[in-house]
Amino acid sequence: MASPGDVTAAARLYAAEMGRLAPGKPLRTVVYSHDHADHASGAPTLFQAFAGPVPIVGHENAYAKLAGPTGDPNLPPPTLTFADRMTIGFGGRPIELHYLGKSHSDNLIVAYLPEDRFAFAVDFVANEVVGFRDLPDYHFPDFFETLERLQRIPYERIVFGQGPPGDRASVERQVRYYRELREAVSKAVAQGMSEDEAAGWIQLASCHSGGGTTSGWGSMCGPCTGGWLEGVGREGGDDVLAGAGNGAYIKQFVRVMRVRFPARFLQVWTQRRPV
Ligand SMILES: [Zn+2]
Repeated sequence: MASPGDVTAAARLYAAEMGRLAPGKPLRTVVYSHDHADHASGAPTLFQAFAGPVPIVGHENAYAKLAGPTGDPNLPPPTLTFADRMTIGFGGRPIELHYLGKSHSDNLIVAYLPEDRFAFAVDFVANEVVGFRDLPDYHFPDFFETLERLQRIPYERIVFGQGPPGDRASVERQVRYYRELREAVSKAVAQGMSEDEAAGWIQLASCHSGGGTTSGWGSMCGPCTGGWLEGVGREGGDDVLAGAGNGAYIKQFVRVMRVRFPARFLQVWTQRRPV
């Protein structure tokens, strides 16, 4: 599920759309992409709209986050969990659920329909937009590896939690962007640059064709275009960088890297060969 805003209203809308697209069909399973409230709320509303409770599938870490006496009744924990991979049979067709590692949250899963070579991935990846601001609940450096692992699933088309659908090249651009960003930030930190110095020094070549103009990345590198990034990382983020340009974004990334895993980040990413 992926539903920002009023989750109960969104769940009602989902139920109505499901009834319209598949009239008379039962609700069989609810799958949580991850534990965040905008992706895991509203199951009770769906149960009400259909014939009562059905299994809620999620990653085992999502259970750990959502179970417990303080739990929100609108945000019930999964009733069926898995660690690495689970396949659900649906109308005689398999739907694979893959846990690829920590990324945005520690329990985000990707759905894959092998017969259609079709994947569904939310929040840690999107088409032409990237993480920004304070990168809430992002896990570095696992995030980078998880993103690369997504490319081992043989999908052809992919739909995201936000924005237009894409293909393998859409995700490859994301991989390249983050690889370049982390290498540049890593170098800047290793050279002892301040956040301001790093912001002035770092240029992401993949965002620019000559003369500092943006390349065919579209809005991918929002900071460089001066536009504001939509999508991944928005939830829970404050507006510290709202309206700011590339420099402020780089500064924020340096700050996040430095605060969250100063030594580990440098060791891992300066010694690693490009994948
Ligand atoms: Zn999320």
